[in-house]
Amino acid sequence: MAVVTIGPCQGCGACLLTCPVHAIRPTPAGLRVTDRCTGCLECLEICPVDAVRVDPEPGGER
Ligand code: SF4
Ligand code: SF4
Repeated sequence: MAVVTIGPCQGCGACLLTCPVHAIRPTPAGLRVTDRCTGCLECLEICPVDAVRVDPEPGGER
């Protein structure tokens, strides 16, 4: 499964509201994607500033 991370962003909150499994959490250091993430990539679609980054899991399927 793909590994989803979120970089510096404008904090609009759209991804938090969109994530169907509530995997995105605000922390003092920014948004963090927890291991509840299913890799659906809805956050990637919704983000207006392309802050969501997707990396293939090492040795895994994309
Ligand atoms: S890829 Fe899907 S499950 Fe993972 S954080 Fe984004 S919206 Fe949530
Ligand atoms: S949708 Fe993008 S800009 Fe908005 S809070 Fe999420 S990562 Fe940040």
